[in-house]
Amino acid sequence: MKTPQPVRGMQSLLGEEADRMAAVVAAFDKVRRLYGFRRVDVPMLEDTAVFARTMGETTDVVSKEMYSFEDKSGDPVTLRPEFTAGIARAFLSEGWQQHVPLKVATHGAAFRYERPQKGRFRQFHQLDAEIIGAPEPASDVELLCFADQLLKELGIDAAVLKLNTLGDPDTRAAWRDALHAHFTKHRGDLSEESRDRLDRNPLRILDSKAHADWPIVDAAPVIDDFLTSDAGEFFARVTAGLDAAGVNWERAPRLVRGLDYYRHTAFEFMTDQLGAQGTVLAGGRYDGLMESLGGPHTPAVGWAAGIERLSMLIDAPAVEQPLVVIVPLGDRAATAAEGIIAGLRRDGIASDMAYRGNMKKRMSKANASGATYALIIGDDELDRGEAQLKTLASGEQRAVTLGQLAQAIAE
Ligand code: ATP
Ligand code: MG
Repeated sequence: MKTPQPVRGMQSLLGEEADRMAAVVAAFDKVRRLYGFRRVDVPMLEDTAVFARTMGETTDVVSKEMYSFEDKSGDPVTLRPEFTAGIARAFLSEGWQQHVPLKVATHGAAFRYERPQKGRFRQFHQLDAEIIGAPEPASDVELLCFADQLLKELGIDAAVLKLNTLGDPDTRAAWRDALHAHFTKHRGDLSEESRDRLDRNPLRILDSKAHADWPIVDAAPVIDDFLTSDAGEFFARVTAGLDAAGVNWERAPRLVRGLDYYRHTAFEFMTDQLGAQGTVLAGGRYDGLMESLGGPHTPAVGWAAGIERLSMLIDAPAVEQPLVVIVPLGDRAATAAEGIIAGLRRDGIASDMAYRGNMKKRMSKANASGATYALIIGDDELDRGEAQLKTLASGEQRAVTLGQLAQAIAE
């Protein structure tokens, strides 16, 4: 019989790779607390409208990448491609509005039907942080500081913060018209995908991955010429805050984000170490999103980071090692060892047992485990209530009383 294969783009991880992901989440949780972000959890499955309405029908995610299906009652549902939309839905449906300004963080699996490659999967994992109900530029600064500190905590120095503003709706509308005029002039040289986007959403052409588009994108008008004074001042306060906090940033005047809901601040932390998948963390301000779900105007700002991409950039986490490996010799010792190892583990001492093969094999397992001690238990010594505690690095060995094992090991 043919054994089942994984679904394309879905990974199963063993050991170090799984440890890397856990290390990223642990660092996130540590920094989350320092910044006072509360933990939230939202469903993996939402009504399809939650994503379609917030992320925008013309975006890649909604038009091509969503795992959408009908459940058994015929209701249209979608596996979350991101967290922001689900958090916004919960904010409106669960009465979280009473907590504004609400600083929340979460992490977990997300799903997008895309072509799998290095750093790009169909099931992947994100960290996510949001500040909801906060119109002040200070929240943008706080979120960016959180992101920057997380990357430092992970030892990732090579990621650069690229920062832009998309302005307020007036700014955006004027810029959109100018972009539309510019790209229309070069229509014939644009990639097919960008030609497709031209009338529906010309901003998205700036985000094109097609090389043919890049010179045309580079020559496109920048937003600065269209910024209203309010939008300009907002951006100035964000950058001043970042400078005061010692967060390095680079202006990226043509940076747009793939989703429709962004206003004002937009940013990406980029690295050149992951090939085409160089964006490790990205986000921005999404002042219009709650309205798209029928909620009241609620300014908010957030980011998401790819856990797989971050875990490729960190040093390998320390391998977990037992403190002691039990080496029983003889049948009675083997049974007694079950009791001894259970006792050690209950005392909080990480322990493992070498019960396979001859004495030599068992000792070499103990040596290879990285443990500090081997506890060698023979039938004769067992009768005296003793065992041999061997310090593996030095080879030094002494008899210890079984009743005082935990103390002997702690010394
Ligand atoms: P990209 O341009 O790489 O497709 P994106 O703009 O679609 O990214 P976002 O929607 O901003 O990505 O998601 C935030 C982060 O989640 C990304 O910066 C990336 O680190 C990660 N991410 C997004 N899609 C995937 C994927 N398919 N596999 C792994 N990580 C992903
Ligand atoms: Mg994408």
